[in-house]
Amino acid sequence: MAKWVYAFGGGSAEGEKGDKNLLGGKGANLAEMARLGLPVPPGFTLTTEVCTAFYRNNREYPAELESQVEAALADLEKKVGKRFGDPENPLLVSVRSGARASMPGMMDTVLNLGLNDETAEGLAELSGDRRFALDSYRRFITMYSDVVLGVSHSTFEEILERFKEDRDYTLDTEIAAAEWEEIIAEYKAAVRKALGEPFPTDPRDQLWGAIGAVFSSWMNDRAITYRRMYDIPESWGTAVNVQAMVFGNMGETSATGVAFTRDPSTGEKGYYGEFLINAQGEDVVAGIRTPQCLTKVMREKMGDPQPSMEEAMPQVYAQLIDVFDRLERHYRDMQDIEFTVERGTLWMLQTRAGKRTARAALKIAVDMVADGLIGEEEAVLRVEPSALDQLLHPTIDESYERDVIAKGLPASPGAAAGKVVFDADEAEHMAKLGEKVILVRVETSPEDIHGMHAAQAIVTARGGMTSHAAVVARGMGRPCVSGAGEIKIDVAARTFTARGRKVHEGDMITVDGATGEVLAGEAKMIKPELTGDFASLMVWADRARRMKVRTNAETPLDVQTAKEFGAEGIGLCRTEHMFFDADRIAAVREMILAEDQSGRIKALSKILPMQRDDFAEIFRIMEDRPCTIRLLDPPLHEFLPHTDEDVKAVAEATGLPAAGLMERAKSLAETNPMLGHRGCRLGITYPEIYEMQARAIFEAQAIVEKETGFKPVAEVMIPLVAVAKELEILKVRIEAIARKVEKETGTAPVYLIGTMIELPRAALRAADIAAHAEFFSFGTNDLTQTTFGLSRDDAGKFLGDYLEAQIFEKDPFVSLDQEGVGDLIKIAVERGRGARENLKLGICGEHGGDPASIRFCEEAGLDYVSCSPYRVPIARLAAAQAALKKSA
Ligand code: ADP
Ligand code: MG
Ligand code: MG
Repeated sequence: MAKWVYAFGGGSAEGEKGDKNLLGGKGANLAEMARLGLPVPPGFTLTTEVCTAFYRNNREYPAELESQVEAALADLEKKVGKRFGDPENPLLVSVRSGARASMPGMMDTVLNLGLNDETAEGLAELSGDRRFALDSYRRFITMYSDVVLGVSHSTFEEILERFKEDRDYTLDTEIAAAEWEEIIAEYKAAVRKALGEPFPTDPRDQLWGAIGAVFSSWMNDRAITYRRMYDIPESWGTAVNVQAMVFGNMGETSATGVAFTRDPSTGEKGYYGEFLINAQGEDVVAGIRTPQCLTKVMREKMGDPQPSMEEAMPQVYAQLIDVFDRLERHYRDMQDIEFTVERGTLWMLQTRAGKRTARAALKIAVDMVADGLIGEEEAVLRVEPSALDQLLHPTIDESYERDVIAKGLPASPGAAAGKVVFDADEAEHMAKLGEKVILVRVETSPEDIHGMHAAQAIVTARGGMTSHAAVVARGMGRPCVSGAGEIKIDVAARTFTARGRKVHEGDMITVDGATGEVLAGEAKMIKPELTGDFASLMVWADRARRMKVRTNAETPLDVQTAKEFGAEGIGLCRTEHMFFDADRIAAVREMILAEDQSGRIKALSKILPMQRDDFAEIFRIMEDRPCTIRLLDPPLHEFLPHTDEDVKAVAEATGLPAAGLMERAKSLAETNPMLGHRGCRLGITYPEIYEMQARAIFEAQAIVEKETGFKPVAEVMIPLVAVAKELEILKVRIEAIARKVEKETGTAPVYLIGTMIELPRAALRAADIAAHAEFFSFGTNDLTQTTFGLSRDDAGKFLGDYLEAQIFEKDPFVSLDQEGVGDLIKIAVERGRGARENLKLGICGEHGGDPASIRFCEEAGLDYVSCSPYRVPIARLAAAQAALKKSA
């Protein structure tokens, strides 16, 4: 019989060690902590397979589930010596979701389940604390109604707020037991009014209701959005954990808290966390009361007047940090922990690898190598390549005069400037229009995730260092300032005020997530330092990787940046960018519009010295690193004069009549330029263009070699080859130029001639092409366009529908379509190398900087990847991980 339910607690647990796939992250770790002998309230887990079966069978549970849950419940009752639904001695449970990958805030937990009027009485008797029992009861009604019955949280909040206002209370703790009874009665009436039926009183109905809600929430919009954003497959499902309750709301010796074993922002060693006395569950993250610091050090640093846990509960604190240390040693990673203290007794409710900033990830990985907890290769695997992006981002220049308008908590580091927006949809909308925006909110909730993603940074008026905004922002690498209480938001007026100043929607502000400051205007930023931990990790990554990493760059600034980031060559230097320069375009147009070859040659002779200088500058920077230079590629169409003014400029420069030029421009216009007269087709029709470019390259090599002593290495790349013959013809001409330049300068240029593979035909006919090509570079942007027959510039209009309908799992222009485009690449690799054993292979599309695509390139056996300068470190790390995962 299939096993759907696994028990944990009391020093042991069922199932395999660390089986997250089956038990979900939370369930597997609860089981693991139980096995380690840590104090975990016992419970049981309904596996992720139940969830999968549920959705496969039209939202019906497997037949054996009910009896297995009953058995587990009976076992749990025995373990804790209480009975579910027993008015004398009631067992209460929490029902908690837990997917394989942690999905914070995606699915809600129900606490205190099992309460009704009778069991609440029993709990009051048993605890001798009526106020506590009723506090738990009202929490249960609120949560259960919100999560399971769909009666919004605010319904209950309004009732409570009104009640407190009427009596001039500020804190929930001022409410007396008898008063809670009144409130509970109102709550129940509100549920009945909203649903037309009473709040469920049978604990078993409550339990199945909550289980059903967790499984259903796997398909709610928030969960779907989150999965899409983090590439979590829908097929994974979530588990449900049913766990005996322990109570942090049993008075002054009880508490609840969250902690990290190291600072998740900086990675510094030292415990980090917050707790609340006489509170339950999510009170800490909800921002209702201001939590207290875990440690004395942290309290002093923050200037917090309330005592820390270290000071207020020294004994439990000592026990707690002992658990932290054990967990860190056990998991060999920084842990994010949730705990509760019930009348002086510590209970562990959750542990997981803590989310961290890239800076913290780096520091923790490097520190753990130094401490012998993990090896270098493990450290390389521990840092998410795309997270490095955060480190490569700017910080505010020290010398910049800061105009601080508000200050909050430094919740997620980095600095960013943008225009103020007040809601998530607006943030997304503005970002789509290309605006940089800062999302300013009272607090954030899972509904805001898309807006947080679209924003450069996030500011919240409420919430602590572990608030939703802080946790999510750190995960996404967005700078965040939380709890900036000075900020008063007027949502209706779309303004906020702070320190007597008013800021409107659309006004520019700068957020410094490292200091917690919000500044007026756009601050001056500086580039990040790439030394220290970053450098150490990169050294280890470079040791582990097989593929080289090059860059796509043509301006000296980009080439220099890429070199500093560790680029080992240029994988793609686009020469057309050089042609678009304002002072050159006239000469280029003159060439295009020339009537005949001699006209073209005359125009090209004006361009030659400029191109030569461009290449010389690049060779100077790259020294002897190989530089792949792509000969002119784009449709001539793009260079045609658009306005009368453009035509007049060409007419003046050449002395040709404007009318004739206009005619010629019209005759050159194309209906479908991307499939038109472009790439090597230009080279075939106008050989003198490629000859000029080849000459510029070889002459530049000679100049730089004489000047520096380095031997520049050129890889001359012919774009858009479909037929081997195209390459054969062009190669002969380029070689002839090389010989000429050698004769003229006395220096033999070091060069290869190769091609871009960006048409399906080229991939299929790779063997013939390789007969003439010394290298292939996969131009996966165009190869994706031509394989799908999909224009990148137009796809944006309907790509969303395709992702929505799951026709595409990911945007194929961002992450390589490994099945289709990938197959063509594999074919080309195999056939190309079959014809020429030492054929050099690389990729130069956008995908060269995407970790998943880099992994593919490693598997396909490419020699290098090439990406934009700022992605070079990401690619180095991703290539290292790909190599390690391949050999593993
Ligand atoms: P999330 O995934 O949103 O963190 P959890 O399932 O961890 O949700 O529950 C949130 C909080 O509820 C926990 O941190 C803990 O404080 C509280 N909680 C959950 N289960 C129990 C329990 N059995 N006893 C006491 N508190 C609990
Ligand atoms: Mg939650
Ligand atoms: Mg939790």
